[in-house]
Amino acid sequence: MDAAGPAGRDEHTFLRELEALLADPAQQDNPLTPALARLLALHRQQNERIERLVRISDGYHGLSRQQTSGLADKFERQVRRLEKLARISDLYQSNLRDLTEALREASLKDPLTELGNRRFLMERLKDETGRARRKGAPLCVTILDVDHFKVINDTHGHDAGDEALRRIADVLRNSVRQYDVVGRWGGEEFLLLLPEVGLDEALQTAERIRSAIGEIAIGLDGATIRMTASLGLTRQLDDDLPSDTINRADNALLAAKRAGRNRVVVR
Ligand code: GH3
Ligand code: MG
Ligand code: MG
Repeated sequence: MDAAGPAGRDEHTFLRELEALLADPAQQDNPLTPALARLLALHRQQNERIERLVRISDGYHGLSRQQTSGLADKFERQVRRLEKLARISDLYQSNLRDLTEALREASLKDPLTELGNRRFLMERLKDETGRARRKGAPLCVTILDVDHFKVINDTHGHDAGDEALRRIADVLRNSVRQYDVVGRWGGEEFLLLLPEVGLDEALQTAERIRSAIGEIAIGLDGATIRMTASLGLTRQLDDDLPSDTINRADNALLAAKRAGRNRVVVR
């Protein structure tokens, strides 16, 4: 606001001249003097009132500016808080995803051999059965069972038995192609799925594995542990359920055991 108040500069000069005129002794008898004096006083009162109103209005504007910036700050803080929460939630969700994935992997893995477990094999068997059928491609399945494994445990202890299972798992891992599936079916039994090969080729793979297991030698306290294995091999037939294929491979394995072990039987 102008230092002269709501009145303009011209008005101010005029008011000063009027004051001087009213104070002039020569004008005291002028009949207009008392009326002008009252008018001047009234004008001053009005000016003061206007100035008061302007001060209140300025104060109000200042206050509302303060309130507005206070609200903006509050809003900013809230937004930052929400952003932080969103980041925490993202992190939480990504941790949860990792954990779920780790749990899923663990639930499909055999801890001793680090091969897939029976659940993993069942899932893959279903997948591979469907795929083979869609493609009209062959699928061979073989079950391997270590011969007289109980004797290894009884003679050399359970830890030696565990080591023997790990060594067999290594042989299996190293004997198959990238898209073959191998896992621990349970105990000292392993399962192999060989997609897109016929029985002849699958038989060669099975024989190679049988022979490689015969080569394993585990040195222990001056003794050497050696093993043989029996394998049952079959191929998926047109109307097979996964369980039909497995049962036929199992029957072939039983026949291999009955025939004297350390051999592959095809059914
Ligand atoms: P066969 O030639 O008829 O197959 O005889 P086997 O002794 O191999 O068969 P059997 O079923 O009588 O014995 C299997 C043994 O495998 C018994 C069980 O204690 C042992 N076994 C199963 N799982 C494990 C394991 O994780 N670690 C160890 N060390 N032994 C195991
Ligand atoms: Mg067995
Ligand atoms: Mg056995």
